[in-house]
Amino acid sequence: MIRLFFFFLLLRTFSCADTIYDIRGSSPLLDANMTQFLNTWRTDTLTPIQSGIYTNVIVNGNPNHKRVALTFDDAPDDNNTDKLLDILDYHGVKAAFFMIARTMVEGNISVVQRTNDEGHLVLNHTLSHPRLSDLNESSIVYQLDHAAEQIESITGHYPLLYRPPYGSINSLVVESTNNHGLTTILWSLDSLDWTLKDSDAVVENVISNVRNGDIILMHRNATSVASLSEMIEELKNKGYLFERLDEMLGIRAYR
Ligand SMILES: [Zn+2]
Repeated sequence: MIRLFFFFLLLRTFSCADTIYDIRGSSPLLDANMTQFLNTWRTDTLTPIQSGIYTNVIVNGNPNHKRVALTFDDAPDDNNTDKLLDILDYHGVKAAFFMIARTMVEGNISVVQRTNDEGHLVLNHTLSHPRLSDLNESSIVYQLDHAAEQIESITGHYPLLYRPPYGSINSLVVESTNNHGLTTILWSLDSLDWTLKDSDAVVENVISNVRNGDIILMHRNATSVASLSEMIEELKNKGYLFERLDEMLGIRAYR
C-alpha cells in the first residue's frame, strides 16, 4: 500500500513537471486587434507543443516550485542593456539574455562580455532576427550556428538554448534545431513590454498573471528598464524566487 502511494506520488510529480502552460500576459491597454493577434499566435504555437508534436520546445518550468526566470530579448545595445544589468545586480538576480549576433559590434561587445561576466546567460536570438519559419533548413542552421559562434568568440560559451524571433516556429524549425542539438525556449508569461509603453501596466500584467515556474519574456527596451525594479520587488514580496533559466529548468545552457 505504501509502495503504491509512493508510485502515485512519483507519477504525479513527473506529470506536473511536464505540464505545459498556456501563455499568459494581457492588459486592458491592448486593443481588440492586438489581443486577437496574440491569442491566435499563442494557440497556433502551443497546440503542437502541448500535444507532443513539437518536442524539445520549452514554455515553462516546474509548476510545483515557486520560482520564475527572467529572460530579455534583443540585446545588446549601448544603453538599455547596461541599465538592465545595473538593476539585476542591485537586486542580486541572474537572468538570461537572448542576443542578436549582428548587433554585437564595436561598442556593444563590452556589454555582451559584461552580461557573461556578471553571471547571466548569453543565449542565441539568431544572427539577424528573421522569422525562422520563413526559412529553409540550411538558412535556419546558418542563422543559429553563426550567432552561436559569434557569442562563443566573445564569451567563450557556445549556447545550446535559442529563442526564435517573434516566437515564430514551425515543424521544420523544430526539427532542424533539434537535429543541431539546440533547445527552443519560448515563454509562459509575456510582460508585453514591447507593446505596452507604460511601465505600471507591465508590472500589473506580470504580477496579476504570474504562476510557479514561469519563464518571463522581456526586452532590452526602455519600458522594461522602467518596470524591472518594481517587478522584482513585487514578485519577491509574493514569495517568488528568481532562478537563472538553466537552473530553473535543470538543463545545460552551453556546449
Ligand atoms: Zn527578438
